Amino acid sequence: MSRLILFSGGVESTLLLCEADPMDTVVTIEPTYPYGMPTFRKESAEKIAEKLGFKINYAQIHIPIEPEPYHFVHQIRTFISVANLWCAKDTKITEVWAGRHSGDVDGPSRPPNMYEAWALLHPNVKFHRPFEHMSKREQWNQIPDDIKPLVSSCFFYKNCGKCDKCLEVKKMLEEQ
Ligand SMILES: [Zn+2]
Repeated sequence: MSRLILFSGGVESTLLLCEADPMDTVVTIEPTYPYGMPTFRKESAEKIAEKLGFKINYAQIHIPIEPEPYHFVHQIRTFISVANLWCAKDTKITEVWAGRHSGDVDGPSRPPNMYEAWALLHPNVKFHRPFEHMSKREQWNQIPDDIKPLVSSCFFYKNCGKCDKCLEVKKMLEEQ
């Protein structure tokens, strides 16, 4: 069995990496346009991977400039595109892991039936969301304390505190 881990460096995918096997393949999205990947996010993701004994593969994706490019990058559908590519290139992959939390919502552009479409396209590759039953906070609690400071999903500058992702993390930390 070979597993593909979809990693962004945020809360959910960091927990995936904590629970992954060293033989798993880890891939993250590196937008090439219009601004590239924020340097601090790339460094944080690299440090998390290094601490946990993984090497990151980068899928360079040319993203549209409008509307709101970073929202596009973080959407599950963008990660599914990457998983499609990797599974087409590496036929040994039998399972894909994606980070989701309970009550997770996708943007308005979320295509319907994307998981059903995956099952039709890749009948031999399970698209697994192992921690989807847990809240974001519950997942955060499972992340080791030395990894927590490296977790980041900010759209812009280092944990700006204002973007949607930072506000989501702030709300999560206020929960018990
Ligand atoms: Zn932010």
